[in-house]
Amino acid sequence: MISFFERFFEFQKKVHQLIFSWIPFSFGDLVYILTGIFLLYHGAALFKKRKRHSSLLSLLVGINIFYFLYQVFWGMLYFQVPIIKKLPTQKEPTTEKAKILALNYLEKCKRTRSLVKEDHNGIFIITDLKALQKEILNKQARLPENISGKKAPGINSFKPSLFKEVMNFTGILGYYNPFTAEAQYNSQLPHTYIPFTSAHESSHQLGFAREQEANFVGYLIGIDSKNPELRYSTEYFTLKSLLNFIVEEDPEFVKSMLKNYSLPMKRDRVYEKAFVLKHQGWLDDFFGFTNNLFLKSNQQEGSITYSYFIDLLLNYESSEK
Ligand SMILES: [Zn+2]
Repeated sequence: MISFFERFFEFQKKVHQLIFSWIPFSFGDLVYILTGIFLLYHGAALFKKRKRHSSLLSLLVGINIFYFLYQVFWGMLYFQVPIIKKLPTQKEPTTEKAKILALNYLEKCKRTRSLVKEDHNGIFIITDLKALQKEILNKQARLPENISGKKAPGINSFKPSLFKEVMNFTGILGYYNPFTAEAQYNSQLPHTYIPFTSAHESSHQLGFAREQEANFVGYLIGIDSKNPELRYSTEYFTLKSLLNFIVEEDPEFVKSMLKNYSLPMKRDRVYEKAFVLKHQGWLDDFFGFTNNLFLKSNQQEGSITYSYFIDLLLNYESSEK
């Protein structure tokens, strides 16, 4: 039954991408805005005696169709075989292993950071977004066979979100729209985030629904790339995830790692922190809360736990070498 939905998804994403990818803005965001207007209009009409019945009917029918399409286009993919089951080893991650890997990725990050461009403040910038997106699509088609047997249509359907102002304040970096198969990202983010976020959203496009699996597939897409902008962003994400995992057990180790960042990396880190700080507020708490609820209702861990990505990463790395 699940494999039926996986095959259906291959077909659906291709059709959707052919229909929506060429539109220069996020059509999915427009659909969301129209849906919002529909809900508000009929929601308000519930208070008018004359229209109450017909509006209630419209709302129920509308919500049901929306939910049904969501489940068919996307929700069923949460029942796929987890990637961890496809890896040769399935050991618990240990802090020791994570530290070795973190040291390794710090060196990689330093090296790759010296190859990319920066702005006049010395902050990493992307020079060619289109080339980066093309590279992600190329890499999608060359993922390890045992992890992804999915077809990569190679259609560029990355869209800057129409809600970037809201996203700045919510900590949401990007999202996949299952109704249009578009991958939205926040174009106002510090550039260190954008390549990896794009790789992550493209993994959803490929058909990996779980958050941490999209991170892992994004990692596979970016980590050996010849495009230094994609590689730096991916290595940097990996390093940060490892440090987040280690910090609970050994905060001193993480402190010394941060000290050993190269100067350009330190500038990137300060810039990221300033961005988050500038946009922190009640919206962040609110969305952090609702996002957790949403993830839980989709049978996943909430966003607090990084460990499934670390699980995948450590098991993959130890089976590689
Ligand atoms: Zn995601």
